[in-house]
Amino acid sequence: MSKKLTDRRRKLLREIQHLADTAIFGTLSESYRTCGRAGCHCQGPGPKHGPHLHVSYRGDEGKTTGYYVPKAAEQAVREGVAAWQRLQQRLRKLAELNQAHTLRQAREERSR
Ligand SMILES: [Zn+2]
Repeated sequence: MSKKLTDRRRKLLREIQHLADTAIFGTLSESYRTCGRAGCHCQGPGPKHGPHLHVSYRGDEGKTTGYYVPKAAEQAVREGVAAWQRLQQRLRKLAELNQAHTLRQAREERSR
């Protein structure tokens, strides 16, 4: 493997490890809800409670599931979901490098 390729892979692997440390899987959305308190303004003309941060994702067996995020965890969850996105990009890039390397190696062996 060339030194340049080795360096790129090493850098990607470092970033992947770092991102994987905080990554959270899911799609963020914000919603407004009504509560169960009798006579609360949310059940009349408004305003409803929120926004509440919600994470949805496809769980096992392909069923969409999700959860509401407590206020205290909102920032960490937003950052975690962003980390997951970047993690996907880095993994993809790494897979491309692996592919290029594998094909090049096969060509070199054939021409030997
Ligand atoms: Zn209410």
